[in-house]
Amino acid sequence: MAPRLPSELFAFNKKPKVLSGDVIQVLVGNEEQRFTVHENSLRVNSAFFEAALRRDWMETVDRTVKLPEESPERFHVYVQWVYCGLYKGLKGRPELSPNDLARLYTLGARLQDHDFQDAALDAFIYRCGEKETIPDDNIVFLIFSNTTKGDPMRRLLVKMRVRSGMVGNFDNEMGTQMAEFYFDIAKKSMEGVDPSVAPDGPGRCKYHQHGDQPCYRADE
Ligand SMILES: [Zn+2]
Repeated sequence: MAPRLPSELFAFNKKPKVLSGDVIQVLVGNEEQRFTVHENSLRVNSAFFEAALRRDWMETVDRTVKLPEESPERFHVYVQWVYCGLYKGLKGRPELSPNDLARLYTLGARLQDHDFQDAALDAFIYRCGEKETIPDDNIVFLIFSNTTKGDPMRRLLVKMRVRSGMVGNFDNEMGTQMAEFYFDIAKKSMEGVDPSVAPDGPGRCKYHQHGDQPCYRADE
């Protein structure tokens, strides 16, 4: 059975909306799809944009930032987050799979927007529960290739896999990332598993990155 949808799960982005000031162009993907976004809105949410637009980078002279390796579809979800919160980006889009949400998490890592990562991770947990999915090796590889040791989503994936008892493909050729994953699995297995991975449980910030800062869901 699909888990209950916590009312606060897809909370609105609580950061101030800064709709005054200049707009910039963001060119996304190989095809350079153009997004026109308020500069201040990006800077208040993303440490990446804050740094990129603060410096006098050549590519910012014409107020343009290029993200050639990102997907326009996923950046569109990010822009929805910046302006409206993730709620509108996801509520009407059940087609966003766990894999899509994992990729949104890595987009958040690249843009250094921890609130967006926390929201994507919560949605990922929800979607995996809804679809009764245990994240497969493709998702593991994606996350372990785009995050660093100790990352909360790494810890979540390890826990979900240990909890599921799913047998892994220890012979796969995916390289060091999977070796790290299975090392973490072995360690976690020896520690024993706490089954509380639900995002709406008492430990709902357990996999969030905000630390002492307010949770994006905190004042709902
Ligand atoms: Zn939190």
